[in-house]
Amino acid sequence: MIDIITGTEINYYFICKTKLWLFSKFQTMEHSSDVVKDGKIIHESVHQRNIKEVNLPGMKIDLIKKKNDLVIYEVKKSKKMEISSTYQLLFYLYRLKEMDIIAKGILDYPLIKKTEEVILNEEREKELENIFQNIQEIVNGLIPQPEKKPYCKKCSYYDFCWV
Ligand code: SF4
Repeated sequence: MIDIITGTEINYYFICKTKLWLFSKFQTMEHSSDVVKDGKIIHESVHQRNIKEVNLPGMKIDLIKKKNDLVIYEVKKSKKMEISSTYQLLFYLYRLKEMDIIAKGILDYPLIKKTEEVILNEEREKELENIFQNIQEIVNGLIPQPEKKPYCKKCSYYDFCWV
C-alpha cells in the first residue's frame, strides 16, 4: 500500500511497470524545505502572473500562470513520452481539483516550440481513478517481469534488470 500516489508513479505506470514497482519500494521521499503542505500558496498567488516550481505533496509543477484561467505547465524536452506526460499532468489537475483549484494544463515542449492543451473531464477522472487502483495492485504484488524497452539503457534500474 502506498500512502500517496505521486506524479512520478503515474508517469512510470505508462513507461514501465517494473520501474513503477522498484520506485515505489526504493524511492527516498524528497523532503524539500520548500515543500508546501497544501494548495494555499496557489490560492494566495493567483494574482501573480507566474509561479515557478511549485512543490505540493506528490506533485512538482513546473510553472503556474494566471491568465483568464489558472494554467499549469509541464515542461518536457521531447514528445517521446507524451502519453505518460499527459497523464502526469491530468493527475496534477485532478489533485488540484481536490483542493478546489480548477485549472487547465499545458504540455510545453520549448525545444520544438510546441504546446498541447490538457483538460481534465469526467471521463479522464474515472480513468485516473482506475489507474490509482492499478498502481496499488502493482506495488502490492510481485515485481513485474522486466521487458526490454528503448529507454532501458538510460534507466537508473538498468543494472538491476539486465546485468
Ligand atoms: S531498465 Fe527497463 S525494464 Fe528495467 S525498470 Fe528500467 S525501463 Fe523498466
